[in-house]
Amino acid sequence: MAKYNDSKCRICRREGGKLFLKGDRCYTDKCAFDRRPYAPGQHGRARKKNSDYAVQLREKQKVRRMYGLLEKQFHSYFVKADMSKGVTGSNLLSILERRLDNVIYRLGLANSRSQARQMVRHGIFTVNGRKATIPSIQVKVGDVIEVREKNRKMPVIAEAQEVIARRGCPSWLEADGPNFRGVVKALPQREDIQFPMSEQLIVELYSK
Ligand code: SF4
Repeated sequence: MAKYNDSKCRICRREGGKLFLKGDRCYTDKCAFDRRPYAPGQHGRARKKNSDYAVQLREKQKVRRMYGLLEKQFHSYFVKADMSKGVTGSNLLSILERRLDNVIYRLGLANSRSQARQMVRHGIFTVNGRKATIPSIQVKVGDVIEVREKNRKMPVIAEAQEVIARRGCPSWLEADGPNFRGVVKALPQREDIQFPMSEQLIVELYSK
């Protein structure tokens, strides 16, 4: 599978906003976007007039990169969202939010989505009591996500639980930090996703 190996902070600077890709560091004054809030590269500070297409493309890239997905998978989620009942943009965000790696990040059991993904692949979590190793699993209402007993002393989990106090847990999830578990109480709705993104631009881009 293709992998992005360049600086994560560069992605935030390219997309013009904090995407919180580095866990705790994103909340400190070491954040590269806070220090240099312009695009990377020689012409990063140049004023540009963006076309409609460029605006739509940047919005899609921002959301795709925030969830750490490759183009093919992101597009397949769009197709799925488009074929489902309801508003395509909201369906897309709901599908992205329900990925197991995102849920683990939201529950404060990992510092970032990329860390959550790696931890899932290493078999650290269970879903409804069964070991889960696929980060793209879509969670359902009532699913119980837990850290396996033998992995509960990992320092990375203690660190993540400190950060969630600052970040907060969305209302569709119930985090039970002391017991290293979380429950999916409801499906995520558009208003549960506070991060500023305009899903309509993504729909317009893919509908061309
Ligand atoms: Fe983005 Fe700042 Fe986090 Fe780097 S530290 S990933 S620039 S939010």
